[in-house]
Amino acid sequence: MASRGSLAGPRVLMRRLREVMAESLGAQERLDEIVTQIAANMVTEVCSVYVLRADGMLELYATRGLNPDAVHKVTLNVGRGLVGLIATSGRPLNLPDSQKHPAFAYLPETGEEIYHSFLGVPIMRAGRTLGVLVVQNRSYRTYLDEELEALETTAMVLAEMFAAGEIEDLATPGADLDLNRPVQLTGAAFAEDIGLGHVVLHEPRVVVTQMIAEDTDHELKRLDAAMASLRLSVDDLLARGAEAGHGEHREILEAYRMFAQDRGWTRRLREAVENGLTAEAAVEKVQSDTRLRVGRQADAFLRDRLHDFDDLANRLLRELIGRPHGPLDGELPEDAIIVARTMGAAELLDYDRERLRGLVLEEGAPTSHVAIIARALDIACVGQVEDVVSLAETGDPIIVDGETGLVHLRPPSDIETAYADKVRFQARRQEQYLQIRDEPAVTRDGVDFELLMNAGLLMDLPHLEESGAAGIGLFRTELQFMVVSSFPRQNEQQAYYEQVLEAANGKPVTFRSLDVGGDKVLPYLRSQAEENPAMGWRAIRLGLDRPALLKTQVRALLKATAGRELRLMFPMVTEVGEFERARAIVERERAHLARHGHAAAETVRLGAMVEVPALLWQLDELFAKVDFLSVGSNDLMQFMMASDRGNTRLATRFDPLSPAFLRALRKIADKGLEHGKPVTLCGEIAGRPLEALALAGIGYRALSMSPAAIGPVKTMLRALELGPLSERLATLIDEGVSASDVRTELRAFAEAQRIPV
Ligand code: PEP
Ligand code: MG
Repeated sequence: MASRGSLAGPRVLMRRLREVMAESLGAQERLDEIVTQIAANMVTEVCSVYVLRADGMLELYATRGLNPDAVHKVTLNVGRGLVGLIATSGRPLNLPDSQKHPAFAYLPETGEEIYHSFLGVPIMRAGRTLGVLVVQNRSYRTYLDEELEALETTAMVLAEMFAAGEIEDLATPGADLDLNRPVQLTGAAFAEDIGLGHVVLHEPRVVVTQMIAEDTDHELKRLDAAMASLRLSVDDLLARGAEAGHGEHREILEAYRMFAQDRGWTRRLREAVENGLTAEAAVEKVQSDTRLRVGRQADAFLRDRLHDFDDLANRLLRELIGRPHGPLDGELPEDAIIVARTMGAAELLDYDRERLRGLVLEEGAPTSHVAIIARALDIACVGQVEDVVSLAETGDPIIVDGETGLVHLRPPSDIETAYADKVRFQARRQEQYLQIRDEPAVTRDGVDFELLMNAGLLMDLPHLEESGAAGIGLFRTELQFMVVSSFPRQNEQQAYYEQVLEAANGKPVTFRSLDVGGDKVLPYLRSQAEENPAMGWRAIRLGLDRPALLKTQVRALLKATAGRELRLMFPMVTEVGEFERARAIVERERAHLARHGHAAAETVRLGAMVEVPALLWQLDELFAKVDFLSVGSNDLMQFMMASDRGNTRLATRFDPLSPAFLRALRKIADKGLEHGKPVTLCGEIAGRPLEALALAGIGYRALSMSPAAIGPVKTMLRALELGPLSERLATLIDEGVSASDVRTELRAFAEAQRIPV
């Protein structure tokens, strides 16, 4: 016989829950009161809360109807019994005759064998199961949809209560909550430091404190207003291209727009509010329903879209609480480790550098600009760490190991100790590098190398002295433009370059003209949205079409280097003619300054970056015009392999040690030799000892890298006998073996010669 509940129950329950949450109660009292209210209003004989522990057990935390002595004593394995099944599946179960279910398991200590009907829902937050909430009746009852909804809403209230840390003190010693469980995650190492600190979520998750509405009409208005402002902000993001972090970012923004306009979403949100929730709770509810629907799909595309949808829901929540933008203001801990799904370079620069210790991303690639900035800032960075955003809460202790790509969330004390040792060991290794700082970068067979560093911010400059770099091989001038809110005027640019030169203290600095566009967006420089920004209107293309920009910068550089040598190179040159036009601008500016009696650079050396493969077939003509070339291997690689440098899925697919790429690089070095003009390589591979070994082997003698890489690369070179390496590598490249064979052979070579790589 099936009995039915009444509809009034769930509605009254929502009201009562609001009151219970507002009362000042201890955590256990509040849980007890919640289960009592559920049982009373849903007319159930049993209501119980199980909490997931770090050891994978579900512990009974509160009950109405089962044996009260079982609370904090009875535990279930995840996966065991109906409760365990809900925890693993993340799905509700509604069973009129639960004892017939194959997963049913008796728990004699609770005295539950007399109950037949069963309704259980997972307690979840941000896709994570935190516990299970159950009601039971003796009769064979089918619970109504409204009752299921009421129970799910209550589970949300509980999830927020757990996430706010309210039940932490109820845990018996040694039986910690799963919410606080240590987690080790594996990603890809992007910046070799080790960072110990505390999580700061880049897109902070909102803790919803009011779940049940007092005034539904008011909540509907709030929801509509927040939706409208969300749509505007997404349109604005797209129009400005701001926040673009890398190639994938635009796709994400497009997805945001699609979801933000989605009528079904709006309808579901309004329905949830009409059913008694606050606007915030409605967003969470609809989001967790969507997660349930989509989350279990194997399709990677759909799962990505779910991430987009999560981001958007989070943005909507922040609109609702009136904190739409940005991570935080002045609340950064001293040892902040930023955790984000993805991030643009400019966004990382928004943080107070003094307080940054690390960065963890769910996406990204080692040559994406945000990773380059992380290295320049000298912080640990690990990317491609799945699910880290949903597992971490702001304030959690975290260790980021940029050497191995491991991330330890809420690490146990032995791991913390091991890392403290590792950091000490690293410091010792740094000391060893320091000892060779003033030694030349020369191989055992007497070949000299020039090791330069990449820079872009004034804060980088002390590294020049500390690392013993011979100079700056690539000064990314656009970083100064990215960290300010309006276009720097000529005198500001000049003052900046003067400071750079002063800090360089006579060591040579190669400036690169503004490389904006693509993924390097200046918020104040509005540009058309582009389908393929990396191959779009960027770098020297933009500079030649907007000569005023380039002229201003060139004039600032010429003045800043008054009486000295200016070394300047142009990014993304595709045709020799572009270089010539850029050179003409420099010459005109020089003449102009001379005519007006202004002090300017005494000598000017101009170069081009080799980043576009088309230049490989114009090397003779190009060398005839330039004073030097610098290979931007990050871009050259992405264009040669037709493989977005910021795309997570492609990050390790193609190897720069492939004979195809090495042949291209060798050709540039050979031509440089033939024309008697210097060639430098300033992409990220220059700073990786094994890759640098290969570059040495194919003829590169000047490499520019992040300052932290100078010590390891110099150590490698000083242990190297170059002659045999060049021979061996030539054979491998000419034979066209696979990239992994090149890697293996190089490693074996390094091992045999005892070269640390
Ligand atoms: C490169 O492309 O290799 C390079 C050095 O420039 P950026 O990384 O700034 O694009
Ligand atoms: Mg480049």
